[in-house]
Amino acid sequence: MRAGRNPEDVRLVAVTKFVDASRIKEAFDAGLRVFGESRVQEAQEKVAELQGLNIQWHMVGHLQKNKAKAAVGIFDLIHSLDSVELMELVNKYADKLGKVQKGLIQVKLSEEESKFGISENEVEELLEAAKGMKNLKIEGLMTIPPFFDDPELARPYYRRLKELGDRFGLPELSMGMTNDFEIAIEEGATMVRVGTAIFGERPE
Ligand SMILES: *Cc1c(COP(=O)(O)O)cnc(C)c1O
Repeated sequence: MRAGRNPEDVRLVAVTKFVDASRIKEAFDAGLRVFGESRVQEAQEKVAELQGLNIQWHMVGHLQKNKAKAAVGIFDLIHSLDSVELMELVNKYADKLGKVQKGLIQVKLSEEESKFGISENEVEELLEAAKGMKNLKIEGLMTIPPFFDDPELARPYYRRLKELGDRFGLPELSMGMTNDFEIAIEEGATMVRVGTAIFGERPE
C-alpha cells in the first residue's frame, strides 16, 4: 500500500445517509459490513429493515442528547461523543441494556463555527470522566476538518489528531472522507468514513 500501512489496520465505514436499505443490502452482498449513519431515526428504519444481517452500524453524525437512548440501542460505535453530559447518558442507557457502548470523542481542530466536537484542550477532561463510566469504552478520536478542494490541506488536521491519539494512548482514529481518505490513511487513520465514493452524490 502506498501509505506503508497494512490494509487490515484501516476499516472502511460506508456512510449510508440518504442511501436506502435495498442499496445497503447490495453493498452488503458485495462484501461491506460496516455502515455509518448520521441521523438516528433514519438509521433505526434501516436497521429494522436489514435486521438479521451481520452488519456493524456506526453513528458518524452529531448525536443529540434526546437521541442517546435510541442510539445506544442500535449502534456498535458512536463516533461523535462531544460532551460529558452526552457520555453520561450513553453510559446510563448502555447500563440498562447490559451493554458496553464503544465510542470515539469528536475533536474539532479548526475554528469553523458549524462543526461539532470539543477542542483539543478538553480531550483529557472527557477521558477522565469516561474512566468512571463502566458501560462506556472510549476507543479513540474522530475529526472532520474543514472542506478543502485540495485534500493536501487536510493533512495537518489528520496529523494533529494522530498526535493527540498517541498522547492519550488511544488506538482508533476515525478520519478521512471521499475527498481525502488517502491522506488520512497516510497520517494514521484506522477508520475512514466514505459515502460519495461508494454510493455516488447525495441529494443534498
Ligand atoms: C456524510 C459523512 C461522511 C461521508 O462523506 P463523503 O464525502 O460522502 O465520503 C463522513 N463522515 C461524516 C460525519 C458524514 O456526515
